Amino acid sequence: MVGGLETLITGAAVITMDPLRPRAEAVGLGGGRILAVGTRDEIEALRGPRTAEIALDGGAVLPAFQDAHNHACFAGRYRLTCDLHDLHGLEEYLDAVAAYATANPDVEWIYGGGWGMPAFPGGLPRAEDLDRVVPDRPVYLMNSDLHGAWVNSRALELAGIDRDTPDPPGGRIERDPDGSPTGTLHEWARDLVAALLPPTSDETWRAAILESQRHLLSLGVTAWQDAWVEPDVLAAYRALAASGELRAHVVACQWWERTRGTDQIAGMVERRSASSVGTLRAGTVKIMQDGVPENFTAAVVEPYLEVGGVGGGTGFSFNRPSALREAIVALDAEGFQVHVHAIGDRAIRETLEAFEAAVDANGRRDARHHLTHLQLLDPADVGRFRALDLVATVQPYWASADEQMTELTIPHLGDERSGRQYAFRSLHDAGVRLAFASDWAITTADPLMGIEVAVTRTDPEDRGGEPFIPGEALDLGTALAAVTIGSAYVNHLDDTTGTIEVGKDADLVALDHDPTDPDLAGPADARVDLTLIAGEVAYERGANP
Ligand SMILES: [Zn+2]
Repeated sequence: MVGGLETLITGAAVITMDPLRPRAEAVGLGGGRILAVGTRDEIEALRGPRTAEIALDGGAVLPAFQDAHNHACFAGRYRLTCDLHDLHGLEEYLDAVAAYATANPDVEWIYGGGWGMPAFPGGLPRAEDLDRVVPDRPVYLMNSDLHGAWVNSRALELAGIDRDTPDPPGGRIERDPDGSPTGTLHEWARDLVAALLPPTSDETWRAAILESQRHLLSLGVTAWQDAWVEPDVLAAYRALAASGELRAHVVACQWWERTRGTDQIAGMVERRSASSVGTLRAGTVKIMQDGVPENFTAAVVEPYLEVGGVGGGTGFSFNRPSALREAIVALDAEGFQVHVHAIGDRAIRETLEAFEAAVDANGRRDARHHLTHLQLLDPADVGRFRALDLVATVQPYWASADEQMTELTIPHLGDERSGRQYAFRSLHDAGVRLAFASDWAITTADPLMGIEVAVTRTDPEDRGGEPFIPGEALDLGTALAAVTIGSAYVNHLDDTTGTIEVGKDADLVALDHDPTDPDLAGPADARVDLTLIAGEVAYERGANP
């Protein structure tokens, strides 16, 4: 190459994720691409008079991480509002709400989220607690899992929700024995209040996305699927992609309105073509097929066990199986990638059947459809993923025995079902492609935390804890592949990213420790020093505010 490399990276182990050359000592870059991968001597030989050097002090260089399912727009929005994500317990939440209300005397609605169910008895927060700190203005706070909302009495009053209000389809108003609402709204019951919230401005959405991008780049994440993108948010993404402020690769998942039919596809096709701007793509549609087991809204084959009068039922299929089939067949025919939220064994099965119908109707193509969450997978269905070329997009961080699992989930699933949760190893062994995802802001966006749980089935903050179904643990190489080339595949970015190979984009992450170093207590202890997108520094530890 004339004049030598633009940049060479030395001083760290290079973990390429390329099976033909898994390890190297140095990487050479130019024109935004990877131009050479090899031993230090081989790469040094390509040095020219103007070659810059990134001389790392140990650690490792990997392909940058990719997230196959997060909620970057909402997460950024929370970071700009009343954000409870890093807090624990009722008193901390109430202090934060009070402080936010005091600091923002002119906002009409106190809006935010990030609370966790373990902070409340039965996982159910109450309006009167919020009333103590904000009696006069409505408060609407989303659960960190996005499946419920905590509201105060003023919000209930404005929405006209009282003991006579029926539960809306696909939702449940939590009630006291006399029928009066308690302040927790499950699933689509949220919308009774959410519909009253003032709309978020375009400017706020753009600020939210940039805030998320800043955070994700600091964690080495340079590409993601934003799993719930409404047209206004898509417009904000598009503006940022056009201006070049969106540096990361984003697959915006257009949101399937379950109350509408296939008539919504024409608009989606239009928005897909309008949104192919810069690093943005919108050729994916997200369908939500069920809820979550903690509030008994995940669709299960056998009923939830009742404990102390709580539980029972088989959850919700948000789309009737026939409607789901019709939607997936039509979206597949239009060339969309379909991304389905399916947690319970029944929702997973309904979704697999819909994808079977799509193959029957439309034949096979390079669709890369994926199901996400897959918490309660029937072992009998594992093989169907491979047979249908479906990707399993899993949240590895969830596969530990945290409080939500031990207190709210296991008692209602019972032993047999509880013992087959998050079956990552079974999927991998069956030859199913795995992609990793965080579901941020529901849980941490940090891929290294997820990688560690994938291999230990233990929370990195509780390393002495009992591993959760350790037989389903992945080996570290498989976990690293899932969060790089696996997620790149489902993001349709594997031609240009996901491995360190000559010709690919120089989207790289440098860690201060080699995550495969046996002396490291766990991969989560490694920290991101540097994130590159197309060879340019997008994050540098210490240099960014
Ligand atoms: Zn999600």
